[in-house]
Amino acid sequence: MAAKLILRGEHWQAMRRHVSRRAPLEACGLLAGKNKRVESTLGIYNAERSPVRFRMEPGAQWRAFQRIEAAGLELVGIYHSHPNGPDHPSPTDVTEALYPVAQIIWFRADGEWRARGFQIEGGKVTEITLEFIKPE
Ligand SMILES: [Zn+2]
Repeated sequence: MAAKLILRGEHWQAMRRHVSRRAPLEACGLLAGKNKRVESTLGIYNAERSPVRFRMEPGAQWRAFQRIEAAGLELVGIYHSHPNGPDHPSPTDVTEALYPVAQIIWFRADGEWRARGFQIEGGKVTEITLEFIKPE
């Protein structure tokens, strides 16, 4: 499936701002785009308000899906943070992965926020490449 996800620097910044602002709680959001290429990020409220779990607030998630569809885009990724690690999907993330899209995990290493991309399908986790392009 998706061996990579293509993003612009502004998407990276937007996600990093979001997860950083919500820490020490987990933050989560959706990535809209086409053909493995991100066009916009949509931060969603974490209804769990937890440092170790996330559940997208259903109303906000529904509205985000409406916006993605109205823009003629598709869901190409989901991001969430692990303020206290690990740097990869947790067993819960693997069990609860509903969509076969890129999963971006934000974590901290040496005080810096970093991200890795994964594909989770049928309980199997594969790392994918996060590729950056310059704005046009
Ligand atoms: Zn997680």
